[in-house]
Amino acid sequence: MGIEDTLEKANIVLLDIEGTTTSISYVKETLFGFIRSNLEHYVKTHWNDAEFQEDLVVLKQQAHKDKINKVEGLIEIPDGSIAAVVKNVLWQMDLDRKTKALKQLQGHIMHEGYNNGELKGHMYPDVLPALKSWVSKGKKLYIYSSGSIEAQKLLFGHSEEGNILELFSGHFDTAVGGKTDTASYMNISNELNCRCQDVLFLTDVPKEARAAKSAGMEAVLVVREGNAPLSEEDKVSFSVISSFPMLSC
Ligand SMILES: [Mg+2]
Repeated sequence: MGIEDTLEKANIVLLDIEGTTTSISYVKETLFGFIRSNLEHYVKTHWNDAEFQEDLVVLKQQAHKDKINKVEGLIEIPDGSIAAVVKNVLWQMDLDRKTKALKQLQGHIMHEGYNNGELKGHMYPDVLPALKSWVSKGKKLYIYSSGSIEAQKLLFGHSEEGNILELFSGHFDTAVGGKTDTASYMNISNELNCRCQDVLFLTDVPKEARAAKSAGMEAVLVVREGNAPLSEEDKVSFSVISSFPMLSC
């Protein structure tokens, strides 16, 4: 069955972001690079803001937990030390940690960057026209990404092609479970009140595609420049696309 037929059949399309709608380098380099280079300035200028003080409380709680757990290389955060906050955050980013404390502060720094126009969410050029054509054919679109729902909304609310959030009927992040867990896809179909077989999941990661397929969803692999190469087995197990096809009205 061709991808167009698979799409025609699905009532719901569930989309991954990194490596699927958006280049991995946008997230890993542009976005994280922005956070790194603006971190110190952000901490200094927002130190007295209530929002930052809340972020700081959570960062300190994390550092305290890390100390108890004897996490190697931990940078502690003494009261009032801007330098220590910056070092702690960079240390966590170097380790690619996914702590709530890190994500919360990163979210706020990104928020400022998107709001003042310094950041614009990347999308491959085929994405927007295809998504519009799918919606006009009555498909409902949802995002499922390991980036927080807030981060997803920032990216698509301030994309290179403007605010395209109205195309999406909803968003999921790892609150429903990890992306390589079959149960997560069942949780999503439960929340959407639909059967798994009504859902087509598009992702660049074969393990995620397998988990969705085990739950009963259709899954198609997306190949984009800069993605990890697929194995021969992956190419046999799944349909593979390198751009999003348009559905004609
Ligand atoms: Mg991905």
